Amino acid sequence: MASEYDVIVIGGGPAGYPAAIRAAQNKLKVACIDEWKNKDGSAVFGGTCTNAGCIPSKALLESTELFVKTKDELGVHGIKVGGVEFDVTQMQKRKTGIVKASTTGIAMLLKSAGVTPLQGHGKLLPGKKVEFTAHDGKKETLSAKHIVLASGSIPTELKSMPFDGKNIVDNWGALDFDSVPKKLAVVGAGVIGLELGSVWRRLGAEVTVLEALPDFLGTADRDIAKVAAREFAKQGLAIKLGAKVSKAEIKGDTVEVTYADAKGEQKIVVDKLLVAVGRRAFTEGVLGDGTGVKVDARGRIDVDEHCWTGVEGVWAVGDCVRGAMLAHKGFEEGMAVAELIAGKAGHVNYDTIPWVIYTEPEIAWAGKTEEELKAANIPYKTGSFPFAAVGRAVAMNETAGQVKVIAHAETDRILGVHMVGPGVSELIAEAVVAMEFHGSAEDLARIVHAHPTLSEAVHEAALSGDKRAIHKAN
Ligand SMILES: Cc1cc2nc3c(=O)[nH]c(=O)nc-3n(C[C@H](O)[C@H](O)[C@H](O)COP(=O)(O)OP(=O)(O)OC[C@H]3O[C@@H](n4cnc5c(N)ncnc54)[C@H](O)[C@@H]3O)c2cc1C
Repeated sequence: MASEYDVIVIGGGPAGYPAAIRAAQNKLKVACIDEWKNKDGSAVFGGTCTNAGCIPSKALLESTELFVKTKDELGVHGIKVGGVEFDVTQMQKRKTGIVKASTTGIAMLLKSAGVTPLQGHGKLLPGKKVEFTAHDGKKETLSAKHIVLASGSIPTELKSMPFDGKNIVDNWGALDFDSVPKKLAVVGAGVIGLELGSVWRRLGAEVTVLEALPDFLGTADRDIAKVAAREFAKQGLAIKLGAKVSKAEIKGDTVEVTYADAKGEQKIVVDKLLVAVGRRAFTEGVLGDGTGVKVDARGRIDVDEHCWTGVEGVWAVGDCVRGAMLAHKGFEEGMAVAELIAGKAGHVNYDTIPWVIYTEPEIAWAGKTEEELKAANIPYKTGSFPFAAVGRAVAMNETAGQVKVIAHAETDRILGVHMVGPGVSELIAEAVVAMEFHGSAEDLARIVHAHPTLSEAVHEAALSGDKRAIHKAN
């Protein structure tokens, strides 16, 4: 094995493997080190996203949503089905197959790009060196002109409710339940809590989501959050706001959860507790002594706007640095750094990163909320349009939700687009493109949108900003 590279990437998740592939496409000699092992002991690339995050969660969300639709929503279409049942073992088998196909695909992509895959632990040493410890314990010192740190993040564990992997679990545990818990409590009404809470609710679990903050989805637009809260309540997700969990104790095969809300101290007993209070940058064992790489107060690797650590030739990308903990943010940072290393232009526009929550209805947004604009004293106007007035949504029987376009009051430049409703995880891409090209609400209003499609909600919301919507009273 050659030990000198142009680029060594430590971490093969969504930030690391695209950095490695792009650097190799730029004709550089690249190695990508990853230490992930799945529960069956297999060493795979793909990181959290592919193995314990984006991909398995979406696999289960898809299966469980199909179950609900088949059971409850086909009748209205005149389709009669009886005896609809689910099989958790098959759902989990399908999920595992999807994860396996994805990790195999990533390994093939690395190989076909000419990246040397190294499975084991990487530690940055001073002088642009990396200590590589293979899974069999063999150590080797590698060197490179550039090193990209992409070590990702791990779930935040609370001392008062430590994970035991059985009754008190993190995201990985909640993705792997082999039967439906009768009662599930979720600490944290964030993206992960809502998505995984939805999965098990759809299969019949009694789900209680305990959120310490008083507002539901505090970072989302208020109108969007209101619609989402209403729809989740209809589905039977019990979301308790202002509920501060103080401890969780395992009692037999159950968990007693103690929390305080406006009414005082409360206790609930559940079969499983998912603690989804956030994730923290993972840097343990990544930085050797004397490298000069700094971490900030929250344990994230310190970088500038170009993901440079301030140490010559050392970069860091993805969840282990500041910014949104999203796979696509990591992808873009990884690729941008690979371009910069090759002497090309590399850049990430942090202002247009889309956020998506894959619940039913889906929630998506990009750019600023009204609250942020008010706080920054930026004059704005809004236009919104309900899916109930979109022909395609009506035909689909999915009318809950709306699209809201926020534009600058004077220049008309789009400042934010917020959506809740059917297919918005895909619709948000139009908003991102428009914002990336510094588009105005008038641009969206004048672009031809196919009829009948869900995208007409974006068109009409843009028109509605100037009270010109056609399919609603302005
Ligand atoms: C349940 C869940 C659902 C999610 N859903 C979405 C979603 O739908 N969309 C979205 O955008 N994001 C989603 N995310 C977030 C997304 O998974 C992360 O933002 C993304 O994985 C971050 O990528 P990364 O490459 O920075 O880190 P990671 O994916 O964490 O990868 C880091 C890799 O580095 C390896 N590593 C760490 N240290 C070392 C070392 N010293 N040596 C060798 N290897 C090392 C790790 O083993 C890991 O394989 C979800 C997360 C969770 C938990």
